[in-house]
Formats: sequence, structure tokens, C-alpha cells
Amino acid sequence: MIPENKIHQITLPVPYAMNTVNVFLVEGDLLTLIDTGTNTPETLDTLKSELKRIGYQLEDIEQIVLTHHHPDHAGLLDEFKEDVKILGHERNIPYLTQEQSFLDYYYEYFVENAMIYGVPEEFVKKMPRTIEKMPYTSKRSLTDIIGEGDRIDSLFGLKVLYTPGHATSHISLYSEDDGIVFGGDLLLDKVSSNPILEPPLNGEIERVKPLLQYNDSLQRIAELPITKLYTGHGEPVTDVKGLVESRLDKQKARADKVLEMIKKQPLTAFEVCQMLFPKIYQKQLSLTLSETIGQLDYLENLGFIRLSERNNGILEYKTNEHSVSQ
Ligand SMILES: [Zn+2]
Repeated sequence: MIPENKIHQITLPVPYAMNTVNVFLVEGDLLTLIDTGTNTPETLDTLKSELKRIGYQLEDIEQIVLTHHHPDHAGLLDEFKEDVKILGHERNIPYLTQEQSFLDYYYEYFVENAMIYGVPEEFVKKMPRTIEKMPYTSKRSLTDIIGEGDRIDSLFGLKVLYTPGHATSHISLYSEDDGIVFGGDLLLDKVSSNPILEPPLNGEIERVKPLLQYNDSLQRIAELPITKLYTGHGEPVTDVKGLVESRLDKQKARADKVLEMIKKQPLTAFEVCQMLFPKIYQKQLSLTLSETIGQLDYLENLGFIRLSERNNGILEYKTNEHSVSQ
């Protein structure tokens, strides 16, 4: 059981399109903050004043649990006291420590992929290179690794669910006996959460397929008796099953649209991206390309399409004739 009066949702300003992020102060055996906000002065000021309103100071926080590594959730870690405990999935670590070799690898992976997926050179050249540190982050890592099935004793015995898709580091915290969940960016009330492409880690050969992981995570939470899911952005969700269904329907509709495009002619991922997001693909290339590749992975996994080489190492997607004519 996690008493509702021990949970304080704090909404912080962040320099992203969503405008705000929710972090949660939970008064357990250890005073815990779930997620932190970005490393920006406005975020820090708001966090301090909101904590004060509840009766605490930043220095009182004894433990931080990260739902995932994105800067709006993990960026502010530098500001907490020296011996604060920082819990999260192990896949947070390279994004938190940001060693130079990882930053280089990350950039090179995306440049290489962009070329393979047909992104023209002039766009590739404009891809932002992170020299020292990813924007709005700290360089401070975990003190404790948590993963699927672990329980956080100092936090009402919340159970860790590994829920990748939006990020491969993504976990949710589940209070089994009353159905309360801290869901990070797994499921948001107003907008669908993007599956984001990440490079393979720790010697993995293939990249993960974020949309497939994401759909599995959604289906998993749809089957749990959740009463209230606190979200990383927006209001809590109570009808998790209903919302998951509508998100999955919407995704299938988008995949159908992509399949219709490819039935007309073979296309690179970049060409599909331009057609799917004509107004925003230039401004938000990495997000829209991640989303597009997600849909292509989905269709490929169902056997509707396959990759083949166009020229110069550029790959295009074609339909599998036998499955389309069914
Ligand atoms: Zn995120």
C-alpha cells in the first residue's frame, strides 16, 4: 500500500515541446524523488519552491529513482546532496556518465544510420554533435541498479517493472496491492509517447526495435489491475486499458498508411518520414525518423515488408508480395 497523502506530484518547467515534466516526492522510509527535471535554472528554482511549499528542502531528499535517462527526467542529478541514493535501470549509465567514447559512438551511430536510411547528406551534416555533454544534463551516475522484479523496500515496497520502448532504460514502479503506478513516459494522457531509437549497447549486435518493445510494454500494463498511473507529463491516467487500446489502434492505422505508401513504390525510411511528417520532419528529424523506423520495424516484423539495397549502401523497404496479396 502506498498512502495517497504521501505522494506529491510536482510539475516543473522544461525547455522541451511538452513544456513541463512531473516529478514525484514520495514520503517513504527514505524521502524519495521519482525523476528530477532538466538541468536548467528555472527547473531548479521551481523544484526548490515546490519542495518548500510541501515542507522540505532539496537537501532533505535521500533517494532518487529514475524512470529513464532522458534529460527532462534525469538531468538535474548534480544538484542533490553528495550521499543521495540514485536508483535506476543499468541502461541509464552510459547516458548519465557520458564518457567521451560513448558520446562519439552515439554520434557516429546516428550518422551511419542516417546514411543507410536514406537521409540526404545536407541533413546529416546538420545533425547536432554533442562535444562534452548532452544538453540539460548532469554527469552523475547511479548508486544502485534496479531491474525487473526488484522491490524498493524504502519506498513502500514498490515493485520495478521493466517497461522499455520509449527508452531502453525505462522502468515503472508498481504498488501491487492498490494498483498505483509511477509510469514515467510509458503512457501519457494527452499525447502518444514516442519510441526512440538508441544505439546498441554493451556489445549487442543489433539495435533494439523500440516500437515493438513499446507495444509489448503497453500490452503488459493493460493487463495489470492498475487504478491510477502517474505520468511524466500531464494528468494521471485511470483507464489504462482503454487508453492503451486507443494508442495501439492509432499506431496500427499509421502503420497501414506506411504500408500503402510502400505498396506503390519501394521507399527509404527517410522518404517515408517525409511523407508521414511533411511539416515537421526537417525541424525534428531525429524524433520523426525514430517514429518512422518504428512503424517500418513493425511492418517488417509482421512480414509485410523487407529491406533491400537501393545503391551506395542505402536501404529501401519493399513489400513482400505473398503477404500483401493475402
Ligand atoms: Zn522521455
